[in-house]
Amino acid sequence: MDSLLLSRRDLDFLLYDWLDVTALTRRPRYADHDRSTFDAVLELSETIATRHFAPHNKRNDAEEPRFDGERVRMIPEVGEALRVYADAGLVGAAMDHELGGQQLPVVVANACRAWFQAANIATAAYPLLTVGNANLLLAHGSPEQIDTYVRPMVEGRFFGTMCLSEPQAGSSLADLTTKALPQDDGTHRLTGTKMWISGGDHELSENIVHLVLARIPGGPAGVKGISLFIVPKFLVSPDGTLGERNDVVLAGLNHKMGYRGTTNTLLNFGEGRYTPGGAPGAVGYLVGEPHHGLAYMFHMMNEARIGVGQGATALGYTGYLHALDYARTRPQGRPLTGRDPSAPQVPIIEHPDVRRMLLAQKSYVEGALALGLYCSRLLDEETTAPERADRDRAHLLLDVLTPIAKSWPSQWCLAANDLAIQVHGGYGYTREYDVEQYYRDNRLNAIHEGTHGIHGLDLLGRKVVMDGGAGLRLLLDTLASTVARATAVGGEAAELAARLAQAADRTGRTTARLWSTGDPATALTNSSTYLEAVGHVVLAWIWLEQYLALPDRTDAFHEGKRQAARYFFRVELPCTGPQFDLLDSLDRTAADCRPEWF
Ligand SMILES: Cc1cc2nc3c(=O)[nH]c(=O)nc-3n(C[C@H](O)[C@H](O)[C@H](O)COP(=O)(O)OP(=O)(O)OC[C@H]3O[C@@H](n4cnc5c(N)ncnc54)[C@H](O)[C@@H]3O)c2cc1C
Repeated sequence: MDSLLLSRRDLDFLLYDWLDVTALTRRPRYADHDRSTFDAVLELSETIATRHFAPHNKRNDAEEPRFDGERVRMIPEVGEALRVYADAGLVGAAMDHELGGQQLPVVVANACRAWFQAANIATAAYPLLTVGNANLLLAHGSPEQIDTYVRPMVEGRFFGTMCLSEPQAGSSLADLTTKALPQDDGTHRLTGTKMWISGGDHELSENIVHLVLARIPGGPAGVKGISLFIVPKFLVSPDGTLGERNDVVLAGLNHKMGYRGTTNTLLNFGEGRYTPGGAPGAVGYLVGEPHHGLAYMFHMMNEARIGVGQGATALGYTGYLHALDYARTRPQGRPLTGRDPSAPQVPIIEHPDVRRMLLAQKSYVEGALALGLYCSRLLDEETTAPERADRDRAHLLLDVLTPIAKSWPSQWCLAANDLAIQVHGGYGYTREYDVEQYYRDNRLNAIHEGTHGIHGLDLLGRKVVMDGGAGLRLLLDTLASTVARATAVGGEAAELAARLAQAADRTGRTTARLWSTGDPATALTNSSTYLEAVGHVVLAWIWLEQYLALPDRTDAFHEGKRQAARYFFRVELPCTGPQFDLLDSLDRTAADCRPEWF
């Protein structure tokens, strides 16, 4: 039976037929690989995800981690699955051979990761955080920090976290107050409270490497005065053995709607419960230069945000496959044109309205998977393209696409989960079926790694205007080159191209109109609507790209792709018209609604 997690057929199409990932093996970094090594690691990921991650997904949700005041307790399957994952070398899938990694292209490593996110998003979150942490240290840590912390992370012995948020500082990191006092020995002592820290405490690994944003007293106010520190749960001796317990303490676990298997923690740094070196205060090691911490964190954000978008996609994708499977097997009702009560009932997939719900899901999840892999391919381009100009281009395009790659799947693959429940009828609303959990799990993704609203501000307030609008120009040029290719093909491809060209033109004109007054308050009032409209335009482009990559074949897979592309262009893309109209009118309905009027 085909997997209900993801479609390997779709992954193969995207990776090989569209993104031509085997071409990457001509670059020195990936020269040891070929299609067979890519296939083998994809196969291995599917197998481990199916055998070790999926089976405890529901139990991990029903029996979420508990804090007994001393220790975090959780079901043993989580640790067992993560051990298998690490032993297969998957933590370091995209990292250098020299570090013990497999040096795979990021796009292949991310395709592998999608299997785990679909199988069990909560268990998969631990390695996702660890890889993000390790990559940050590889980019900005000292050689000694890399040896001490990254190598054990690649081996799966240490896990990582990202400690940005505080109770009073979520979206507004400028307001964080955790302090780091410099010590004579070059270390710092941290005091403060971090909220919402995923994977902040557990006994799944020998050590936990917290990457913590904090202020060194005397530094500038706001985001320019934030530094980054490594704060390990256990101090590490020069020979790599674990030493004293550091003064970072679990104050409590947050009890969440979804993602329940990932511990989510309130952490106190420096409350004095432990006294490493005979004194209270969490021992921290500065990463890079003082006051550059947020920039270092943001260096990794593109990667983390693509990972979040891909997690949302994986949840939408597995929900869609479950709904499809259910719709093929659930008999209910009779065709619109054959109401004979003595005739057998038909499977619900025979009803056009159910096919509408399936096609909407298909267009969202396959489109989102394609976008996430496209962005992952850009991560490879930005580091390994032979020409500097191509590396720069990939970097800029990725910068513009990142808010969309994070937010679009978080919104529309959640909508897919909603439709998957609907396809299941009443059964979808029960805990006996899987789809309600996917919905709950997926609801997080529009909140963390920057809320939807913050990404709207980022796209319209920063990304499309930076460097005199260079990011937007590059995006529109990229769309234009797809339009030109599709126009040259003619037929239906050219029809779709004409619609995309119109939508791209509208994107450019509306952006100019929004900024025509030069007043950010006017421009940014409806930035979430802008994010949604431009997101749909980008996804239409991604669907046209897929359409063009389809070989001239008419089997079910290829016809299904074409129909999903048609659906997106006929049903979804036109929804952007009223959104652009609203934006062009510089509408102030929400802005003018005074708080006391609610
Ligand atoms: C399950 C979970 C896991 C998490 N994991 C981590 C983690 O590992 N590490 C970590 O550091 N953090 C983590 N977070 C924190 C997460 O990044 C924050 O929740 C998020 O940044 C939003 O902050 P907040 O919750 O304080 O909401 P707020 O910032 O208070 O936002 C509330 C609402 O107001 C809106 N809003 C706020 N400011 C503005 C503005 N200027 N303009 C327009 N709208 C605005 C937001 O969009 C949102 O809708 C996690 C959160 C959750 C729920």
